[in-house]
Amino acid sequence: MTEQTLSIIKPDGVKKRLSGKIISIFEENGFEIKAVKKVHLTKKQAEGFYYIHKERPFFNSLVAFMTEGPVIPMVLSCENAILKNRDIMGATNPKDAKDGTIRKMFAESIERNVVHGSDSIESAKFEISYFFNVFEIL
Ligand code: ADP
Ligand code: MG
Repeated sequence: MTEQTLSIIKPDGVKKRLSGKIISIFEENGFEIKAVKKVHLTKKQAEGFYYIHKERPFFNSLVAFMTEGPVIPMVLSCENAILKNRDIMGATNPKDAKDGTIRKMFAESIERNVVHGSDSIESAKFEISYFFNVFEIL
């Protein structure tokens, strides 16, 4: 089934000018870019996006990281987009990520791990609508 998922190139990936490479990886793997923008999140916006992690010990540090510079959220579409994107991203901790995954190739730590990807149909729906309205998804 064709699905949509939200990907974000995080501030570390944008700062290191990895966005072109990362978008190429998505396109080469059959994803269509349905929407894309560049935004610098406020503290409140980052907290809202990651509300599910608000009790975690790393929450404040994660919010500081995600607001340190601009990010590039995008809506990706293909068959099984949510799981497929998680596969291409690799494990949260780059030390555990498989060879060839984005995090294995580019991430420096479990926190500064270059990309975000929705983890379920429910989170994809919430996360896509957090950044894009229906007229912006083509
Ligand atoms: P994922 O992004 O792989 O879905 P999580 O949803 O568990 O991972 O965590 C959200 C983000 O929080 C991670 O991508 C990473 O930036 C950060 N994070 C997760 N676990 C840790 C940790 N133990 N220490 C610091 N940051 C973390
Ligand atoms: Mg997650």
